[in-house]
Amino acid sequence: MNTWLTVDTDDLRHLPRHQGHPTRSIEPFEGDMSRMSPRFKTGWAGFHRWMATHDYAVTVFVITDLFDDPDFEHLLKTSLEAYGQRLTVGCHGHTHRSWSAWGEAQEGFRDMLERSTGLLHQHAEKHVRPWFRAPAGYVASWMASALVDHGFSVDSSVNPSWLVRRKTNGEGWGPVKTAMTSAGLVERSWNTSFTLPVNGPALFRFPLSIIARRAWRRLPPPLNSDGLLNVANGSVPLVTAYAHVLDFAREDGEWTPPL
Ligand SMILES: [Zn+2]
Repeated sequence: MNTWLTVDTDDLRHLPRHQGHPTRSIEPFEGDMSRMSPRFKTGWAGFHRWMATHDYAVTVFVITDLFDDPDFEHLLKTSLEAYGQRLTVGCHGHTHRSWSAWGEAQEGFRDMLERSTGLLHQHAEKHVRPWFRAPAGYVASWMASALVDHGFSVDSSVNPSWLVRRKTNGEGWGPVKTAMTSAGLVERSWNTSFTLPVNGPALFRFPLSIIARRAWRRLPPPLNSDGLLNVANGSVPLVTAYAHVLDFAREDGEWTPPL
């Protein structure tokens, strides 16, 4: 068994607290909506340095409105050139809207996929893979057919923990996973421990963080670039782990995943 390492590119402005969610977005973002935050840049620098310390392959799930800032294209390109086949790029939405929280919206979701994948191909070319991760983990069954129609082969949005079940808008994780696989997608659910989340924010929320860090330390060996093909092969089981670019800004830019 191997681990598929992934990193999501949420900047501060993308947080559900600021935008994209019908009830959680209560605090308008004060900064520039079309520029990367200094914290994001610190995080990206930390991520870039971390990549030089190992041979693992990492998939970066990009939120494509980051390209509104021309400096993001430069950062991404620099890392893609430096790490070659070890870096692949998937889709994390265009604005990080919490899609399932709003109810079914086929047309808007499909328009978003069109726009977002267009930008990814324009800026990341051969590194792009047809792999999707729902913004903020808000996913629902109705998204499956749209993903398939737009050429996606892998979904990695299911966080199968009772603690975050609300993100399926009442459906529950089982039906969402079934919808993805029946539509022909490979579902790469996130790793959990004792049915609790261990990725992303869980790494930093006490007491969940204790379980989360232990789960990371026990992860099977991460995939290298040769093994990446297995992500889209549903018959190969993998453990999926993710952190955020912003996490790499912690500890004065020195944080690295607890592998
Ligand atoms: Zn996100």
